[in-house]
Amino acid sequence: MKIWPDQKPYYSANQYYRQIFGEKVYKISLDIGCTCPTRDGTKGVGGCTFCSARGSGDFAIAGPMSIHEKIDSAIEMVTSKHSSNKYIAYLQSFTNTYGPVRLLVPVYEEIIADKRVVGISIGTRPDCLSNTMIKELSRLSKIKPVWIELGLQTIHQKTADLFHRGYDLAIYENAVVHLNKADIPIIVHLIVGLMGENYADFLATIDYIANQPLSGIKLSMLHILKDSPLYREYLEKPFPLLDEATYIKWVAEAITRMPENMVIHRVTGDGNRKNLVEPKWSGHKRHVLTGLLRYMKEHGLYQGLNYKGPAACS
Ligand code: SF4
Repeated sequence: MKIWPDQKPYYSANQYYRQIFGEKVYKISLDIGCTCPTRDGTKGVGGCTFCSARGSGDFAIAGPMSIHEKIDSAIEMVTSKHSSNKYIAYLQSFTNTYGPVRLLVPVYEEIIADKRVVGISIGTRPDCLSNTMIKELSRLSKIKPVWIELGLQTIHQKTADLFHRGYDLAIYENAVVHLNKADIPIIVHLIVGLMGENYADFLATIDYIANQPLSGIKLSMLHILKDSPLYREYLEKPFPLLDEATYIKWVAEAITRMPENMVIHRVTGDGNRKNLVEPKWSGHKRHVLTGLLRYMKEHGLYQGLNYKGPAACS
């Protein structure tokens, strides 16, 4: 059984960032005031149906204050729990490359100019990455590390249509090619237990992702959030959600199918519990994490164990 230096049976974000920065770093969530093409009418309204009113950035520091003040507040939030000198600015809310490049790039520059910020992780969509934007991101990555986080969620178009993603897999693949050429590491977000998807569907997404040129992945359970369009759909027509034991089993298997160099940034969601309607168990992040580690240990599972290589998704 393979165990990484931080005692996890997988290559965790903590381990990855320690290798890069030589010490523990924390992510601070910032909202820079963007929206999404599926919200402003360009590709739809209401956004992806599972997404919260705050664009999946419920704890991100938002509002009418300067970038410097936002960083101050975000650091204050983190340091009330932990102490650190190094932070990765995480642009978490909405689509953070959606907007004029000439307006967005100075915001990124201002963020990375802060001495406490050692890198920037930008949450976005693959259909909102123009060549000019990628060129600018590449330039900035020579100053401080830049990661791009793409919310793919699934490879299945049928499911993507159900939650109104608004782009197809070819768009994602094109963005990955261009980001790779620019040497910008990519983190892909996937949702476990999406409506209508079974275990085989989920594993098809996992095997596809395992063979993508990515830096890392984030996994989280499908949440029904009070302020999301999915809540209304769920009330009208409830559909089954995974229980905790099944979630753990699926995620454990997903981890075993990842190559050893794929960073596992998240194994369970960390949304706002007050906003969470179902499944209630997913609000207890520590419990899920402990359960996952116990399950993997009991079954001798570790990252890479069931990695099948490119043939798995052919
Ligand atoms: S999931 Fe991402 S792209 Fe979709 S509405 Fe939410 S923030 Fe926008």
